[in-house]
Amino acid sequence: MANPDIVIIGSGIGGATLAAGLAGCGASIVILERGERLTPIPEARDTSAIFLKGHFRPKEMWREAGGAPFNPGNYYYVGGNSKLYGAVLYRYRKEDFAELEHFGGVSPAWPFPYEELEPWYSKAEQLFRVRGSLGDDPTEPHHSQPYPFPPVPDEPPIARARAELKSLGLHPASLPLGVDIETWLADGKTGWDAFPNTGAGKMDGESAALAEALKDGNVRLETGALVERLEATPDGKSITAIRYRQGGAAKTLSPKLVVLSAGAINSAAILLRSAERGLANSSDQVGRNFMNHNSAAMLAIDPRRRNNSVYQKTLSLNDYYLSDGKGGKPLGNVQLLGKINGDMLSANVKLTPRFALDYMAAHSVDWYLMCEDLPDPESRIMVDGSGIVMQWRRTNMESLAGLAKVMRENLRASGYPIVLSRPFDKRTPSHQCGTVRMGNDPASAPLDPWCRSHDHRNLFVMDAGFLPTSAAVNPALTVAAQALRVADYMRRTELV
Ligand SMILES: Cc1cc2nc3c(=O)[nH]c(=O)nc-3n(C[C@H](O)[C@H](O)[C@H](O)COP(=O)(O)OP(=O)(O)OC[C@H]3O[C@@H](n4cnc5c(N)ncnc54)[C@H](O)[C@@H]3O)c2cc1C
Repeated sequence: MANPDIVIIGSGIGGATLAAGLAGCGASIVILERGERLTPIPEARDTSAIFLKGHFRPKEMWREAGGAPFNPGNYYYVGGNSKLYGAVLYRYRKEDFAELEHFGGVSPAWPFPYEELEPWYSKAEQLFRVRGSLGDDPTEPHHSQPYPFPPVPDEPPIARARAELKSLGLHPASLPLGVDIETWLADGKTGWDAFPNTGAGKMDGESAALAEALKDGNVRLETGALVERLEATPDGKSITAIRYRQGGAAKTLSPKLVVLSAGAINSAAILLRSAERGLANSSDQVGRNFMNHNSAAMLAIDPRRRNNSVYQKTLSLNDYYLSDGKGGKPLGNVQLLGKINGDMLSANVKLTPRFALDYMAAHSVDWYLMCEDLPDPESRIMVDGSGIVMQWRRTNMESLAGLAKVMRENLRASGYPIVLSRPFDKRTPSHQCGTVRMGNDPASAPLDPWCRSHDHRNLFVMDAGFLPTSAAVNPALTVAAQALRVADYMRRTELV
């Protein structure tokens, strides 16, 4: 294969959105993706196949530092983790860009304010065809454009939950969602969160961004292409080669620009594997500051009422996002999970009999509590040969305890006599970020504020690894907005 101008490694939210932002610029672009495209199969809407048999999980094992191997919930398909995501497309709040004190420590300031990313958030919302409404959420930052589509409607039990929360003086709001509900349900009556998207119902890296990028004949996707390492010039100033395997063959590409978009964990692992002390790592921060929200599931059960929702996931609550409600420090975000069932519960709760789990799931409204994880250099992704070692040091767990307490009280007050909660498994790094962070100072950040390596000027890292903070909202829209901003920077500075 002739060397293209640009190689993007990974076709998830970061890589595919960057490609969409570059489409039409005239440069030849190859996207190297280790996975294949998902195609419609019955397992895609089968909760037993997905949650009990792990049909879509990768075959690989990672290891906890000093601990046992585990099979990670990290997905390798065209479109990456977003193929299974909940499609909640939130903006970070304006306050998330400034230094913010939490119960567990300080969340540092970004190198630029919210206003810098705002136009790119609007463009990302258009690209991902986000459904939402403005005005209900007191933490919603300024939008220069309204959402392109009205919100996904609440199902009747959720409309009731919304009214119950309002009657407590809270401010429930519609979740911003990249979901075309009619199209999604036409392929099967299920929720979409953690279900693979094999059609056009969910706007993900492939269906929204990559589809746009591939309209440009200069953009080509290579699947089954596993990048193993990068090589740099002897003076270390630029990247000269990408070594990858495809169909059993070792291959090399040497483009002018390299964009690493393999996801926060794999991008760090590729950089660390590529040289003795890692590439792009004069700061010694590659792989460090690994964050992945502190989160818990909370089931509000009323044995007198069935919850017959199919998808459920339309409501959020940010009343405790900036303060604990008593003038104290922030707690976090509350949003609905996709409607859970007995299969999903039994994948996580081993000792309770199945009939009891089915009963609980039929009578519960299921919430997701999410709190900010703070950057800690000892929270790390490391490599062991070709393997990945995860040393996640959770921070700020006080916020999760506080959020669980106040939500338990609220849900009891709104009529649910039983409220159960359980933290999410440590081994599902769904909101992984921070491992190749951006910052103005090359001594403390591998990337500059344009996601360009301080060390190698023809290398960009454009995935959730760049995020200097995790905030307490879902990350994908912020990754997409930054990808569009970075594509614009590449065009303006005539890098492409
Ligand atoms: C179950 C689940 C639910 C989620 N729900 C939400 C949600 O509702 N809202 C939200 O904002 N976020 C959600 N997320 C997180 C969201 O999916 C990620 O934040 C987002 O996908 C990150 O984009 P990325 O570009 O960093 O990585 P990814 O989108 O994961 O893309 C990385 C890509 O790189 C490829 N790749 C990896 N290694 C290599 C290699 N060596 N060579 C070549 N290619 C490689 C992968 O196959 C993948 O395609 C969820 C995640 C999961 C797993």
